[in-house]
Amino acid sequence: MARITLDNLGHAYMPNPVNPADWALQQLDFEFDDGGAYALLGPSGCGKTTLLNIISGLLVPSRGRVLFDGEDMTTRDPTARNIAQVFQFPVIYDTMTVRQNLAFPLRNRGVPAAEIEARVSEIAEMTDLTEMLDRRASGLTADGKQKISLGRGLVRDDVNVIMFDEPLTVIDPHLKWQLRSKLKELHRRIDRTMIYVTHDQIEALTFADRVVLMKDGGVVQIGTPVELFERPAHTFVGHFIGSPGMNLLPCIMAGDTAMIGDTPIAVANAASVKPGGALEIGIRPEFVRFADSGLPVQVTRVMNAGRYRIVETVTQTGETVKLLASNEDEVPSEATRLSFDPAFTRVYRDGWLAGEGRGA
Ligand code: ADP
Ligand code: MG
Repeated sequence: MARITLDNLGHAYMPNPVNPADWALQQLDFEFDDGGAYALLGPSGCGKTTLLNIISGLLVPSRGRVLFDGEDMTTRDPTARNIAQVFQFPVIYDTMTVRQNLAFPLRNRGVPAAEIEARVSEIAEMTDLTEMLDRRASGLTADGKQKISLGRGLVRDDVNVIMFDEPLTVIDPHLKWQLRSKLKELHRRIDRTMIYVTHDQIEALTFADRVVLMKDGGVVQIGTPVELFERPAHTFVGHFIGSPGMNLLPCIMAGDTAMIGDTPIAVANAASVKPGGALEIGIRPEFVRFADSGLPVQVTRVMNAGRYRIVETVTQTGETVKLLASNEDEVPSEATRLSFDPAFTRVYRDGWLAGEGRGA
């Protein structure tokens, strides 16, 4: 087990990086606590796989260090790091049976046969492979093969960290949910550090205790799923997490009061907004209500989302504001007003939460 520290880490695939865009990973400085369940979440190309490969030792970073429990591992090879890594696409031995594939990482380390058998049955059960243990791996479907890959990643119980790189991409949707909850359950049981890479917010939020949200090679916010939902540090977080994402409305500050057009809006961080920059109010659809006073809007569209409805409105200046309405709520058919829950309404300056971190 290990605490993993990224110290001034950066990586460029090109030899002489000049511009920020030349770096696949911008400067990263943070720690994965021992035993935590982490998700690395972000759009395709933001650097997730690059970071995993640096942690596992498949890639040496252009700059900075990777430490395991304070020990510099930056240039040590993968075997010295004692890590299990599950890739996006199956990596298995086609000529072996499923059982032999699952047993391989243990046999390789000289684990006693009885123990191998017990571990393999347990992991086969978990990954739904029990019936296929004696079949040749080459005969399995793509998702069957990926289950073997997952199983091989999970079979050792002595690794420092288990890393998954979008492991459910080729898995059938109904199995995805099942495997994801099993991974979560496994994390609780074996208490190993796990890092789960995905571009899917639902996967990240259901698996992880802490989510590391990445964009353009940098970390935008690290927090619990609730923190990312209730208190986005950047408008990107508000937009990327949530469905629909956070509403953003250009605003100005009149002294300590935020204004959208002529309407004053109570916001949680009014006192900490410094002058300058492009200001926007961020408010999630979950915290917007129809009201007798507040921001004047017209209802333009009502979309049924099953257990609730998504209502789309437009302000007098042409900005869209979405809100959620239960199936029982009455939705006004024309001009109405909206109120925002002030505890969850905040001003962002040039994208960053005003008054904090890079928005200070
Ligand atoms: P993600 O896993 O989040 O989709 P990657 O880490 O694969 O992102 O890629 C980050 C950036 O680095 C992208 O711009 C990608 O094109 C680039 N990149 C990834 N692998 C290589 C490589 N082997 N050579 C050059 N550029 C690469
Ligand atoms: Mg990737």
